[in-house]
Amino acid sequence: MIYPLARYEEGILKKFVPIIILFVLILTGAGSAHAQTSITVTRNEALVDFPQSVTFQLEVADASDVAEVNLVYEVDRSSCLEASTAVPVPLEGNQAEWTWEMVRSGNPPPGATLRWAWQITDSSGNVTTTDEQSHTFVDDRYDWQTVSAPNIRLHWYEGDDVGPMLLEAAVAGLDQLQNEMGIALDSEVQLFIYGESDDMRDAVLYIQEWAGGVAFSDYNIILIGVPPRIAESWGVPTVRHELAHLVVGQFGRSCVGGSRPTWLEEGLATYAEGTPSERVLSDIANGIENNRFEPVRSLNGSFSAHGTEAGIAYSQSYSVVKFLLETYGQENLQSLILTLAQGKGYDEALEAVYGFNVDGLEQAWRQSLNLPAREIPPTPTAVSAQSIPTIEPFGLPESVPTESAAAATAPADAAPPTTDPGLRICNLPVFPLLLVGFGLVFRRRK
Ligand SMILES: [Zn+2]
Repeated sequence: MIYPLARYEEGILKKFVPIIILFVLILTGAGSAHAQTSITVTRNEALVDFPQSVTFQLEVADASDVAEVNLVYEVDRSSCLEASTAVPVPLEGNQAEWTWEMVRSGNPPPGATLRWAWQITDSSGNVTTTDEQSHTFVDDRYDWQTVSAPNIRLHWYEGDDVGPMLLEAAVAGLDQLQNEMGIALDSEVQLFIYGESDDMRDAVLYIQEWAGGVAFSDYNIILIGVPPRIAESWGVPTVRHELAHLVVGQFGRSCVGGSRPTWLEEGLATYAEGTPSERVLSDIANGIENNRFEPVRSLNGSFSAHGTEAGIAYSQSYSVVKFLLETYGQENLQSLILTLAQGKGYDEALEAVYGFNVDGLEQAWRQSLNLPAREIPPTPTAVSAQSIPTIEPFGLPESVPTESAAAATAPADAAPPTTDPGLRICNLPVFPLLLVGFGLVFRRRK
């Protein structure tokens, strides 16, 4: 795989050390066991040190007849994988304790809900299951305010106008996805808007240090760092962009390893930002004038790591998706996403829906821009999702970090970039490399 593992590992090391969100919560559910047996639970607690760990503790009145104790826990999410985890926990005296170390597994985002229960088996094999307990993870460092609209809850803490403004952007983004692509959100999404991207990064273990936004699609949760002064110029399109990743991710979820080519994924998200930025328009105008677009096939996989080229790849992808939508309509676009979700290769899926492969798409798109046909060498081997390892993580994207506001092209009044200049690769609010690292990080959970 070509993504920047070294950088990604470096990020992990940095995040291992600090204990970031220091609050410990004690949740009590003692005495809630329902049973046919006489086992009485005297304590059932979870000590939450988000995002580091959760320690589950159980105490029973009399352990003499207890043969086995199991903890079952899960965090609410949409997943093709088994959602709950069962852990046998040894009893010491009349107590059992088990700690879920998130530094090993990665942490669920704030806003996600943890559920757990204990199963206590006595010597005759009778099982007592405690009532389900739940806890919603909170990033307690800030005083969150919440605004909501149907199916959207947006939380923020800095800048009075920021919440309402970004909620409006989210609603407009969802409307556009519905009206122009026919794709609707299928369950409630939560957005957490941090005042700075640094603040946001401290809520997530294993995040690239330059990331400014993450969409946890399985949890329906998006985190973005939006300094109030660029809420309108950068926050509004970024909210729409990330929402599109999440909604399209829901719509095209694949449990059979299907994936979407990057030009489609990013083209859709850029389209969903609304009126195209001047940068996008000038990239396209320059591409037409100088006949200098990338072969669309080369945009199947990860975009270039180099700033200008990556930026142009987003603009070109936007143009290709716009062409598909405006020429062949939203139903075909939906079919394409669903066909890809069935695990079909990119050429195969395009052929099935539009009657051309990715090269045919490129020629049709070029023709629509009055560009001469490009000489396309024959493709001896069909390029399928499986044969493009770099996009494989799109199959189950858990999260799609976005380049931070400071590192994105910012308006004149924005803060100067604070990250390594080598990372200011893209002039769009999205940074391609992170599309990859993250799927990986969060796949480790069984
Ligand atoms: Zn994106």
